[in-house]
Amino acid sequence: MVLWYVWLASLKIRIAIIGQSNFAADVLELLLERSNIQIVGVFTIPDKGTREDILATTASIHNIPVFKFASWRRKGVALPEVLEQYKSVGATLNVLPFCSQFIPMEVIDGALLGSICYHPSILPRHRGASAISWTLIEGDEVAGFSIFWADDGLDTGPLLLTRQTNVEPTDTLDTIYKRFLYPEGVKAMRVAVDMVASGTAPKIIQAEVGATYDPAMFKTENQVINLQASAERIWNFVRGLDSVPGAIATVLHENGTEEQIRLFGAHLYSAGPVSDGKVLRLRGLTKPAWIHSRGLLIEGTDGAFVNIRRIKRGTKVISASDWFRQSENQSITDFTEDELTKRTLLAGIWNAILKEEIDSSTDFFASGAGSMDVVRLVEEVKEVFDVPLQNEQVFMAPVFEEFFSELVRFLRQGSACSSDQQLDFEAFTLKANKRKIRVPTQLFINGEFVDAEGQRTLEIVNPTNEEVLCKVACASATDVDKAVQAAHSAFYGPWKQITPRQRGQLMVNLADLMERNKEELATIESVDSGAVYTLALKTHVGMSIEAWRYFAGWCDKIQGNTIPVNPARPNNVLTFTRKEPIGVCGLITPWNYPLMMLSWKMAACVAAGNTCLIKPAQTCPLTALKFAELTVRAGFPPGVINVLPGKGSDAGQAVADHQLVRKLGFTGSTPIGKHIMKSCADSNLKKCSLELGGKSPLIIFADCDMDKAVKHGMSSVFFNKGENCIAAGRLFVEDRIHDEFIRRVLKDLRTMTIGDPLDRSTVHGPQNHKAHLDKLLEFCRRGVDDGAKLVYGGCRVPHLKGYFFTPTVFTNVTDDMFIAQEESFGPIMIISKFSGSDVDSLMERANRTEYGLASGVFTKDIGKALSFADRIEAGTVFVNVYNKTDVAAPFGGFKQSGYGKDLGQEALNEYLKTKCVTVEY
Ligand code: NAP
Repeated sequence: MVLWYVWLASLKIRIAIIGQSNFAADVLELLLERSNIQIVGVFTIPDKGTREDILATTASIHNIPVFKFASWRRKGVALPEVLEQYKSVGATLNVLPFCSQFIPMEVIDGALLGSICYHPSILPRHRGASAISWTLIEGDEVAGFSIFWADDGLDTGPLLLTRQTNVEPTDTLDTIYKRFLYPEGVKAMRVAVDMVASGTAPKIIQAEVGATYDPAMFKTENQVINLQASAERIWNFVRGLDSVPGAIATVLHENGTEEQIRLFGAHLYSAGPVSDGKVLRLRGLTKPAWIHSRGLLIEGTDGAFVNIRRIKRGTKVISASDWFRQSENQSITDFTEDELTKRTLLAGIWNAILKEEIDSSTDFFASGAGSMDVVRLVEEVKEVFDVPLQNEQVFMAPVFEEFFSELVRFLRQGSACSSDQQLDFEAFTLKANKRKIRVPTQLFINGEFVDAEGQRTLEIVNPTNEEVLCKVACASATDVDKAVQAAHSAFYGPWKQITPRQRGQLMVNLADLMERNKEELATIESVDSGAVYTLALKTHVGMSIEAWRYFAGWCDKIQGNTIPVNPARPNNVLTFTRKEPIGVCGLITPWNYPLMMLSWKMAACVAAGNTCLIKPAQTCPLTALKFAELTVRAGFPPGVINVLPGKGSDAGQAVADHQLVRKLGFTGSTPIGKHIMKSCADSNLKKCSLELGGKSPLIIFADCDMDKAVKHGMSSVFFNKGENCIAAGRLFVEDRIHDEFIRRVLKDLRTMTIGDPLDRSTVHGPQNHKAHLDKLLEFCRRGVDDGAKLVYGGCRVPHLKGYFFTPTVFTNVTDDMFIAQEESFGPIMIISKFSGSDVDSLMERANRTEYGLASGVFTKDIGKALSFADRIEAGTVFVNVYNKTDVAAPFGGFKQSGYGKDLGQEALNEYLKTKCVTVEY
C-alpha cells in the first residue's frame, strides 16, 4: 500500500474540475500553481445566452479542455455520450468545488482517487442545497464548510476536512459567504487536494447523530416568512435569505389588495416601539408593523422587535423608511421593449465591472465597487447611452434596479436630466425689469412645492407701490413638522451617502445656477424687499453666491485633531477628535437681506453636512422660494433643504420648539432672540446661535481723511436704506470737524436719488414694509421730543407712493436720549460730538450700550485706530472703512447682539459638533 502511494506521488495527479462560478474558477487558478497537478478537463454548465460561465473562460485561458453539459443524466441514467467525454480526459481525481448538477456515480467513482466535494456547512448538519441559509435560519452559533468524499448519497460521504467560524450578529447569507465560506473554502480545496496527493487525506465517516437534511430555499413556497415567531426567529429567517432571494412577506393594503414584498437588512431592534411610525399591515402579524425613520419595525410573538432596512417591491429595492413615499412616487414599471434591451446592456456593464451575476437587487458598493468603479460606470453609461450622468447618481441609486430606473428617467427626459428637473409648482409671474420671472408660491418640503395646511397664505406687498404682489403659502406648525421629518430622514438617509466632496460639488452647482439666474434673483429681491437693484445684484445676490462657493470649499476640509494625552502605561493611547454635523437645523432669518441672510446661514449649515429648514421673514420670502427651485435643479436630494414662509409667532416658534431640530441659527432682533433662546432651552436644549440687533458706534477723529470719512460715514448709515444690522447707529464726530462733517453730509443727502429701486440711477429705495416705516416715523418723533436737533428728513418722502422714508440726520444727541440708545434699523444718522482731548470718555460712551455688533473709526493715526480696536466691545471693527464684510471673515456680535458667528471658518463650527475618540493599544 505504502509503495502504491509512493508510486502515485511520483505521478502528476490528473484532475477533472466539475462545477461552475467564480469559486470553481478560483480553485482552478490555485491548483494550477501546483507542479504535481495537471488539470485535464473542466466540466461546467452551458453558456447562458452569449455568456459563458467564468470557470469555462478561465479554463480556456489556460488551454484546458472545457466540456459544457446541460445535464449528465436522463431519467436517472448517465448519458453515454457525456460519460464518454468525461472518460476521455483520464482523470485520477474529480474535484467538485461548486457543483449544482447531479453527477452520476459512474463519474463519481470513475476516477482512481475518487471525488472530493465542497459543501458550505459543517456536515452532517444542513445537508442539501441551501446549507448557508439554514445555518442562519436555525440560529447556529457556528458556521463552516466541509470537504467530503462524494458517494451515492446526498452530502453523506466521508469527511476529508472541515473549517468553522463564529456566526456574527451582523452576518447574513452574503457576509458569511464573502468573509469566510468563499475565501477559506477556496484555500481549503487546495489543501484537500494536497492531502490527497500526499496520501494523508482522511475519510471520516459522517455521524448520523445531529444530521439534518434541509429543504431547498430556491423554492418560492419555502421563502415565505412565518411572522408568528419570536423576533429572533424572524431576524434569522430574513438574514438567512439576504441578499438572495429575500424573505417573502405580504402587505395587506387598506383598499383590500395584497402585495408581495421581500425583506432585507434585518436586525434586532431593542429601541422599539417607535413613536414616529406609520402603520403597515403584514399577513400573519396580529399587531401592525410600523414604517419609521429607520425602516420597518416588526414585533415578534415574544414582544421583542426586528427592524427591516430594505424592502423589494416588484423589481425595485427601496429603503423601508421610504415605503409611503415610494407608494406616492410611482416607480417606473411600464418599460418599453427598447428600455428592456437597454437594461440588458446596462447589466452587461455592471457585470463587467463587478464580475458577478447582476440581478435587480445587486448593490454596486456591497459588491465591492470602489470610487474608480464609479467613474468607470459613469463613463461607460455616458458613452453607451449618451446621458449626462454624474457620479452622485451612482451613490444615490446604488442598487441595479434603482440605477436602471434613474437611467430610464434620464432617457425619457432627453437632455433635461434629473439634476435639471422641470419642477411642478404653483407660481406667479413677476413682470419687472424687462423680464418675466416665474416665482414659486408654495412651501418647499422634501423636494416638492406643496400647499400649506388649510391653504393658508400670506399677502406679499411690493413696498415700492404698496400693492399686493402675490399670495404665498403660509406654514403652520404641522407643515414645519413635515419639513423636519423630511430633513431628519434625509440626514440619516441619502444625505449621509453623499461624500463631503460631492456635497461641495452640489453647492458649487447651486452657486453656478444662482450666478446664471442672478438678474432674476436680484429683480425679485428688489421688488419684494425694496432693495436697490444694483445693490441687490452686487450684495444681496452677489454675496450669497460667494457664500455658497466659499463654504463649498470647506466641505472636504472639515477635520479634527490628534491630541497627545497621557497614556495609561504600559499601553499607548491615541486620542483624536471628529467634527460631525449636528443633524436637522432650523434657520430663521429677517427681512433686510432675505437671500443673503439665508445663504450666510444655510451654506455653512449644509457644508457641515446638516439638513435644514428655513423660515424666511414673512414680509419677503420670494427669493427664498426661487432659491428652493434652484436647489432641485442643482441636484440636492429631497429633504436636505426645506423652505417654509410663515409667521414667526407660529411657524418660527414651531421650529424653535421642535424636538428633532438640534440647532437653531437665528438672525433678528434682540427681544425675539432672547425669546427663542428660552424656547431652545425648554424644548430640547438645542444649540443656538443668535445674530441680533446692534447700535454700532462710528468714531470720526479730526485727523481723518475727510472725503473718505464722509463717504463711508454716509454709507455706514444709509446703505440698504439703513436696513443693515451693522449700520452705524451712532456717530461720534470730533468737535473740531463736527460742523464741517454735517455740512458735507447734508450736501450729499440733498442730491441722493430716491425712487424706484429697479431704476439703475436710484440709490435709496423704499423701506421694507409699512410697520417698519411707521416705526421709523415714531423713532424720529421720540428724538425730537427728547430735544435732539432734526437737521434733515424725519418724514415720508413727499408725493411718492410706497414706503419711502427720507434719509434723516439728528445732531445734538446726548447719551441719555432714546435715539442714542435704541436701534432704528433705518436711514437715520444720529450724531454726537466729542472732544479729542478726552478719548477715555469717548470709549466709555461708545461702549455704553448693551449691543456689541460692529464699530468703526476714521483717523490717520494708526496708534489711535489700534487702541480703539483694543478697547471697543464689538464683534466687528472697521478702520478707515465701513461695511466691508467678506464671506471668509467671521461676522457676529458681542453682548446682547448675540453670539455665534456667521461666515468664515468659525461659522462652520456653529454647525458642527466635536466627538473625542480615545483608543488604547
Ligand atoms: P425679528 O422681528 O426678530 O424677526 C426675525 C425673524 O424671526 C423673522 O423671520 C420673524 O418672523 C421670526 N420670529 C418672530 N417671532 C418669532 C418667534 N416667536 N419664534 C421664532 N421666530 C420668530 O427681526 P426683524 O424685524 O425681522 O429684523 C430686524 C432685526 O434683525 C434688527 O434688530 C437687526 O439688527 C437684526 N439683524 C441682525 C443681524 C445680525 O447679523 N446681527 C443681521 C440682520 C438683521 P416674522 O417674519 O413673522 O416676523
